[in-house]
Amino acid sequence: MPTSEAERAGYLAAPFAVVDPATGEPFDEAPDQQPDELDTAVDRAHRAWHGWRADPAARTAALREAADAVEAAGDDLARLLTREQGKPLAESYAEVARTAARLCYFADLAPRTRRIADGRPVRSEIRWRPLGPVAAIVPWNFPLQLAAAKFAPALAAGNTMVLKPSPFTPSATRLLGSVLATALPEDVLTVVTGREPLGARLASHPGIRHVTFTGSVPTGRAVAQAAAASLTRVTLELGGNDAAVLLDDIEVDRIADRLFWAAFRNCGQVCMAVKRVYAPARLHTEVVEALAQRAKTVAVGPGLDPDTRLGPVSNAPQLARIDHVTQQALADGARAAAGGHRLDRPGYFFAPTILTDVPPGSPVVTGEQFGPVLPVLPYRSLDEAVDAANSTGFGLGGSVWSTDPDRAEAVAERLECGTAWVNHHAELSLAQPFAGVKDSGVGVAGGPWGLYGNLRPFVVHRPQET
Ligand code: NAD
Repeated sequence: MPTSEAERAGYLAAPFAVVDPATGEPFDEAPDQQPDELDTAVDRAHRAWHGWRADPAARTAALREAADAVEAAGDDLARLLTREQGKPLAESYAEVARTAARLCYFADLAPRTRRIADGRPVRSEIRWRPLGPVAAIVPWNFPLQLAAAKFAPALAAGNTMVLKPSPFTPSATRLLGSVLATALPEDVLTVVTGREPLGARLASHPGIRHVTFTGSVPTGRAVAQAAAASLTRVTLELGGNDAAVLLDDIEVDRIADRLFWAAFRNCGQVCMAVKRVYAPARLHTEVVEALAQRAKTVAVGPGLDPDTRLGPVSNAPQLARIDHVTQQALADGARAAAGGHRLDRPGYFFAPTILTDVPPGSPVVTGEQFGPVLPVLPYRSLDEAVDAANSTGFGLGGSVWSTDPDRAEAVAERLECGTAWVNHHAELSLAQPFAGVKDSGVGVAGGPWGLYGNLRPFVVHRPQET
């Protein structure tokens, strides 16, 4: 089943290697498509758009069928995802399930036509129109579910899409593309794979009407600049540096597991993972010890091993970054209560790390480590903790933990971010909006907001009939 424009056009771009992070060895390859191939992909997406936008009922049926196809291919998708991304197989299955769930959710969502009555004898009706071909560019940490977070609302709204996965994780997305092709009309969703400048060219392509990007802040800025050339709408879901603020009444043992996994799930490679913990000075040592005990005993290994709870870091550059920020923190005076080093085994493994005595200006606190490394910082007053939590350029999420949820919620109100959690972290419903503030993003994804982000208002204004 052809999955890329190049394959459909009958020629294969030279491939690039896909590496298994559990071994560090190549195990697959994907076409290294060149920027000029995008012209044909976007052109075909334009032509497919006219049929796809015309029939909402057919769209709903096709998207539901697509969800069924994803579920039916769950075993193959999950194994391939673990192989190229590294996460434990159970997490890959959960990601496949979320991919199908997004298709089902948006299949049943339709925009509402609204009439405006302002007392004048005119009738003003707001209808919603799709935009055209949408470009989606996604990262390597959740290749399938983040792609679905783009294509499910965009296609449900009546757009077509050209989707580019990260060159670190093209394989499961290519398979997903061929699975979806069994349910969707030709060219409604095209997966393109390749290395830069493929993404840059896609973001600036004049035939694209909306660029929806998930990734790092610097690349997000580059995408916004590229899209500005043709004044294309952009949605940017960018990095985070979420703080967890623990109040002075917490019971450390009761929250330690939840807090640990809020930071270490997917090996810490989650935009809205807990990336800093602020603990009251009186409880700081107890918190560090509880988290360190879990970091030292969690089962680390290849994602395909059923005993593994924490897989490898997903790729070599990310491993090098994590090692660098950790060694820098240690050189600045931090102490590793657990881990603090790479593991001496093949693949991209880093020991789960809890850092204490970290200088507040250290890059592991001010930046986004995006890996299995967690600094725990003491605070003396709550104002100091809230100021510190709000002190970075990021504003994705944050959480407050307490035995008194109302008290925690009052503190959570003070966090400068898009989503604040009480006594847990990084839980999302498909029906809620997801939007970062400050450097963490532009635009809103999720729920009906995600659908409307892929539509434009079209207003019909006429005198009221008497
Ligand atoms: P990245 O910014 O390096 O890459 C993201 C995507 O952009 C990849 O597909 C990449 O190939 C492509 N790309 C690279 N250069 C480009 C350019 N000049 N123009 C267009 N596209 C280009 O990010 P990453 O390392 O793959 O992912 C990790 C980052 O993603 C973290 O910062 C994480 O917080 C963020 N993220 C955010 C969310 C969210 O919803 N806010 C979700 C997941 C990940």
